[in-house]
Amino acid sequence: AALRGLGLPEAYVRLLEERGIRELNPVQSEAVEKGLLGEGNMVVSAPTASGKTLIAELALVDAWLKGGMGVYLTPLRALASEKYWEFKTLESIGVKVGVSTGDYDQPADHLGGYDILVATYERFDSILRLKPWWLPRVSVVVVDEVHMVGDPERGPIIEVIAARLLKRGVRVIGLSATVGNPGELADWLHATLVATGWRPVKLVEGYLEKHEWRIVFPSEGRAEAVEEDTGDPFLDIPLHNAVELGVQTLVFTHNRRRVEEYAEKAAQRLPMAPVGDALAKLLRELEEAPTSVERDGLSELMKRGVAFHHAGLSGVARSIVEKAFRERLIRILYATPTLAAGVNLPARRVLVSVKRYDPARGRKVSISVSEYKQMAGRAGRPRFDEKGESIIVDASSSREALKYIEGSPEPVAGKLLSERSLRIHVLSLVASGEASSTREAVEALSATLSMKQSGDPGFYAGKVEAAVKLLTELGMIEEAGGSLRASALGRITSYTYLDPLTISVYRGLKPPNPGLDLYLLHVVSMTPDFKRGSPYIQGRVVAGLEDVALDMSGEGLIPGPGRAGVDYDDWLEAFVHAMILYDWINEASEDEIVGKYSVGPGDLYSMRDTAAWITHALARVEGVLGDIAFYRALDKLSKRLEKGVREDALELASLRLIGRVRARILIEHGFKTLRDLAEAPVSSIASLPRFGQRVAEEVERQLRELGLKQG
Ligand code: ADP
Repeated sequence: AALRGLGLPEAYVRLLEERGIRELNPVQSEAVEKGLLGEGNMVVSAPTASGKTLIAELALVDAWLKGGMGVYLTPLRALASEKYWEFKTLESIGVKVGVSTGDYDQPADHLGGYDILVATYERFDSILRLKPWWLPRVSVVVVDEVHMVGDPERGPIIEVIAARLLKRGVRVIGLSATVGNPGELADWLHATLVATGWRPVKLVEGYLEKHEWRIVFPSEGRAEAVEEDTGDPFLDIPLHNAVELGVQTLVFTHNRRRVEEYAEKAAQRLPMAPVGDALAKLLRELEEAPTSVERDGLSELMKRGVAFHHAGLSGVARSIVEKAFRERLIRILYATPTLAAGVNLPARRVLVSVKRYDPARGRKVSISVSEYKQMAGRAGRPRFDEKGESIIVDASSSREALKYIEGSPEPVAGKLLSERSLRIHVLSLVASGEASSTREAVEALSATLSMKQSGDPGFYAGKVEAAVKLLTELGMIEEAGGSLRASALGRITSYTYLDPLTISVYRGLKPPNPGLDLYLLHVVSMTPDFKRGSPYIQGRVVAGLEDVALDMSGEGLIPGPGRAGVDYDDWLEAFVHAMILYDWINEASEDEIVGKYSVGPGDLYSMRDTAAWITHALARVEGVLGDIAFYRALDKLSKRLEKGVREDALELASLRLIGRVRARILIEHGFKTLRDLAEAPVSSIASLPRFGQRVAEEVERQLRELGLKQG
């Protein structure tokens, strides 16, 4: 459908045209026909790359034209900043765009000047509770990835946000991947449904027939022979695609080690190609990666047109690999499914493994149809390919392959009724004053998907009651004069977003004195909030540290394994995590840590991020409870976790561009404080190793800003 005639301002239509958008695609047209530019809630369920972001943008611009404010919610900080930059182009027509993903407890008053605000789910939930003055101005909220409502970790927060918005009568636009029950999602949100399988590039799904060693594409009635060279289709098919067909391939398997091994094997079979300018530039950027495995290993692979991608990679390496694949400098990319869930990285051909090792069951299991569709859907690059092809490589039979190809994704189900989610969200309702009795809490949650799906009000009332009882036992909720209220501890817990049980684990295991860093880190590693976010550590690494752990606990340097409620295996694994974090804050290099504990830099990053958040939150709790010594210790620890420095480097590392490495260099050269730095001429800073003129000038600029340096 044409852009003109929708009643949009001419300047906006021209801006869209400049961005290459001349008309609405079928999904967008249907959304507009069904009232996108009018009123009422809407759920759009459509494949990746079908143009859902523009649907969101149209609703946000429409709200702005009507004098309202729009909010766009994403699950991840990285996605929020990506969308922020996308919407930022609207500033040329006068729309003010902002982003807020920071600490949950930061004030929100200053965000009222924006017309469009991009935020993460958690941040917006905290805004809904802080109730800043501008909240009534918000007239539309777009919830991106609303199908994540079925995710056990992130789903409940979507439910609670939506319930709060429905109650306030704010317009909700939900954007969803294709799911099995889009109608149910729409009913839940009282929304008009736009559900379609339309894709900008046709997707052809096929599978490998093992006995014949050929790829069958049932919808096209065609098969393609593969040369059996190594006997491993995960190598043979991509190599055949790259060498014979000249086609770029993205290969999904579920195991990190296999992803790396395959990349190496494939590279051995490809000749070293001359390195062009574009690749040379990326390889230079890769030298900034924190570990030598990435700097040297990955770059050797990339020179042969191969790479790998998984959550263990550092952020630097990951984005370089993505860029190289997008620019077609890499012919074969081996990836774990984290890639399919996050970045938009389409390929002409996608190979999918439908088997995954399940450590809990100790054997291989088949993945869900939704997981398969998520990966297969990456095939086909808009504007480059006429069609995309996905190929299932390891189905046990044709029947199983067809189950994936012809099947629809599973329905999503709410996860709010888990004990963990309920204790967090019931506490939040009581702490914010939205509920002062079990009945009111049940009432407030009645608009959630989980409650709607459970069908039996008595069942969830019982669960809410159990949550209230637990929170009362933990001293977070009190009953006074027949109504429930949050104690000071309950209120601060709710603000920090910690699981109430994290606080009780911490309080139960708290060290005898605040100076024991490793002890504190061990306790933090045993909290439920840490365990959920931390990576798996290999069994041999854990076993190798058992004696050290027992010795240390004998000396009282870490909590003992015999304490009440402590499981020995959990205790030991938490010890390894604590050791990693301890090495990190004592300035061990990332290469050392990676070598010693067999974790990737990406794992280290997520561990320290989680640990810094928990220690920061625990510091606030101690502040409220009045234990100043522990408040100070935890606060310092959280800053050290964030920067990866010893205590003496914290002050210097507070400057931009001064990380753990440069801070230590400064100290070694006699600059111990910001004041020392301010007294030195720029030239002497610039001549230090790893500094140079640019960094020195930036340091100088900041010192002036802080009033430490005149001129
Ligand atoms: P989704 O959010 O559904 O995964 P996107 O919104 O990211 O998909 O859109 C995928 C790509 O298609 C983007 O590069 C976008 O600019 C482009 N696109 C979207 N709508 C149109 C349109 N009507 N005309 C041309 N290009 C479009």
